[in-house]
Amino acid sequence: MAMAVTSTNFARTIRKEAARLGFSAIGFSLPVPQSLAIERYKAMIDEKRHGEMTYMELRIDERAMPDLLLPGLKTVISAAVSYNHPLQNSSGKPDISKYALIDDYHTVVRKKLEELLVFLKSLLGEELNATISVDSSPVLEKTWAEHSGIGKTGKNTLLILPSAGSYVFLGEILIDKEIIDKKPPLPNLCGSCSNCIDSCPTGALIESGRLDASRCISYLTIELKREFSAEESSMIGNHLFGCDHCQEVCPHNKHVSITADRSFKVRPNLLNISTETILNLTKSSFRNLFYGTPIFRLGLKRLKRNAQAVSENLRKS
Ligand code: SF4
Ligand code: SF4
Repeated sequence: MAMAVTSTNFARTIRKEAARLGFSAIGFSLPVPQSLAIERYKAMIDEKRHGEMTYMELRIDERAMPDLLLPGLKTVISAAVSYNHPLQNSSGKPDISKYALIDDYHTVVRKKLEELLVFLKSLLGEELNATISVDSSPVLEKTWAEHSGIGKTGKNTLLILPSAGSYVFLGEILIDKEIIDKKPPLPNLCGSCSNCIDSCPTGALIESGRLDASRCISYLTIELKREFSAEESSMIGNHLFGCDHCQEVCPHNKHVSITADRSFKVRPNLLNISTETILNLTKSSFRNLFYGTPIFRLGLKRLKRNAQAVSENLRKS
């Protein structure tokens, strides 16, 4: 039978190792029901604010009860890594989201979590059942991160860490041992600010914490599988892949004390890339340029769809 690990020192030792591995923060939650979060999630699906991401309609039970993902689940460990590098795309050029100019976080964050799990097992000195998720399981990751006290979701619907801002990747380790760590949830970090809502170029942030994905440039350029309608094509502006507007204007990203982990080095050949270059790519040159980055997952066909729209938008501007 699983034993509770109650010592605060235990959590502190894991935090220290997590910091050594490059995590900006980690926190621990007991897997208590998160009924409010599930209600909000279902409302988002019912109101069709998830666009055509039909996979989000599935596996609701597992989102509500993560012990379905790991029998005997006792602790959800939430971990965040910063990718807040200072380089920006030049204005008037196609824009690529910060997170896409570096190695694919799925690989980097998973490797770090695997190393943390090895440490955890050796620290416990006993058998441990665990599963790691980096966008790979239906886990309400922002909810658990909030619950563990490492961050708070802002009006732009993204998790904000007080010391690292919102340019962070999240991952989780679910384990069948109880780690008690009394870190209270953070208070609201937005106050009267509404910069993100006011500056969203497409009005996708309907109100505080409510995103209509079908109007969001990140969704349109990354998630949408089909060709654009004329309206969607014009909505993406100069965004070749993703959109960071609602993070660029966030005061929590201005003076962060924790910046990008050293694993995330910007690939300079992706900065200021032209639409012409994209439209002339062959399968092999696409692979050479983008392999190992999040853009490679999009595929050449959809990247060219985006480039075509951006090229037309830049010509008209
Ligand atoms: S990513 Fe861009 S389009 Fe989407 S909500 Fe943020 S500012 Fe708006
Ligand atoms: S821009 Fe302002 S309102 Fe939006 S998430 Fe940041 S602090 Fe909150």
